[in-house]
Amino acid sequence: MSFSVLNPATEEVVAEIAEADACAVDAAVEAGAKVFAAGTWSRASVEQRQDMLRKIARLIEAHADELADLESLNTGLLLREARRRHVARAARNFDFFADYIGQSVGELYQQHPGFLTMVLREPVGVAALIAPWNAPLALGSMKIAAAIAFGNSCVIKPSEQAPLAIMRMVEIIAEAGLAPGVLSLVNGRGAVTGEALVRHRLVDLVSFTGGTATGRRIASAAGEGLKAVTMELGGKSANIIFESADFDRALDAALLGVFDNNGQQCLAGSRILVQRSIADRFIEAFAARTKAIRIGDPRDPATELGPVASAAQRERVLEHYARAIDEGAIGLAGGGRPAGLPRGFYVEPVAVEAPSNDLAACQEEIFGPFATIIRFDTAEEAYAIANGTRFGLVSYVWSRDAAQIAEAQERLESGVVWINTPVARELRAPFGGFKESGVGAEGGRACEAFYTRQKTVMTPRRPVALERLGTA
Ligand code: NDP
Repeated sequence: MSFSVLNPATEEVVAEIAEADACAVDAAVEAGAKVFAAGTWSRASVEQRQDMLRKIARLIEAHADELADLESLNTGLLLREARRRHVARAARNFDFFADYIGQSVGELYQQHPGFLTMVLREPVGVAALIAPWNAPLALGSMKIAAAIAFGNSCVIKPSEQAPLAIMRMVEIIAEAGLAPGVLSLVNGRGAVTGEALVRHRLVDLVSFTGGTATGRRIASAAGEGLKAVTMELGGKSANIIFESADFDRALDAALLGVFDNNGQQCLAGSRILVQRSIADRFIEAFAARTKAIRIGDPRDPATELGPVASAAQRERVLEHYARAIDEGAIGLAGGGRPAGLPRGFYVEPVAVEAPSNDLAACQEEIFGPFATIIRFDTAEEAYAIANGTRFGLVSYVWSRDAAQIAEAQERLESGVVWINTPVARELRAPFGGFKESGVGAEGGRACEAFYTRQKTVMTPRRPVALERLGTA
């Protein structure tokens, strides 16, 4: 069986890809387990692993144009963003973990009389890495870099919608000289290839980024096999703009926060909460700017919003718009397909004002260029709305009042809180969601905890007293 991969900007088939069935998945996992047991990579010195990770990073940089081209072609992401952010991030992920493993430390306990107790960390085995379609390179490279940095083998399954750039990156990693079997790639549908991978008896770890419903299913399958999971799932994040905010910066960041990456990002600030005293002015400006966003070919440097990834995602945006209006929202911008772009999964960016946080558009992750704006009066009300969701990935706060900022960062129920900034990433710190936005986290120590297992070794400082059985 094979499947077609499309260019979302033209709807043309750009590749036909063979699907990995259970046998192909088995071969990839077996190869990972075999090389792991042999110790070629799993017991390689830290210096050897650092050298390899850095070599991979340099090769990714050397192929940056090619990788960015493939990522944009296959996802509809703006070419300039794919080059500037996604490919750069992929290289950075390998450099980051090269640095990290050079500084990581174990534990030593010496309180027990007569003993020194060491806690060592060692790689776990074979990791299944399941990557989504909205930022395949940036997110897939994080998983690969973390898994191999700590000595594991891994098998990556990209999304069937957007495998091209990850496929090329995996080839580049092989060209760097990583031992065969340490990293394999399997292509195919989630329900076939993904499921076979997650359920494989020799897979020890499952790292998933994607939708909450899929995450639940994968976590259940992994749970049956008692495999550890990390899940980076959906979000419906609040961007709270207090009247004390720097209005112009908050406006710029709110637009970026929801329409960046063609609106398809788990950390989108898709619920914009605006304090009533500044709401009229904000809503008017936000609607005008949304209408002025330049939609078009993701390869054109002037484009600000490319197509969404698939026809299904476009329909999802349009259906949610119609439903929001039915439920009482005020349409401010968007709601249709843009004129002059008959081919490609283009959709106008949407802005609606929601009368309440209960609307489907405020509760469900739409994963497209769709902003809902909600007015609030008091900070208490803002926290109640922000936390009134089953998700808890990130939050954004715009304010120049120090006490208000201190309170907001305490009250918001999300894994990350960004104050007066759009998305910023600190790889040393954990990135992970509360509630239905995830299990576990990614980041330096968070990845070390997930991709290694601890071993306690006790050594007596002097011979221990032994009772001598059978000598009576
Ligand atoms: P999924 O969450 O289903 O896809 C993510 C990855 O999981 C893909 O590689 C997919 O493969 C794979 N997968 C799907 N089912 C299984 C399974 N049973 N076992 C193993 N792997 C599986 O994304 P969807 O395309 O269904 O998107 C649904 C919604 O998820 C979006 O609308 C959005 O709300 C959210 N989403 C969130 C993301 C995030 O970054 N947090 C990223 C992507 C989506 P394949 O694509 O080949 O089927």
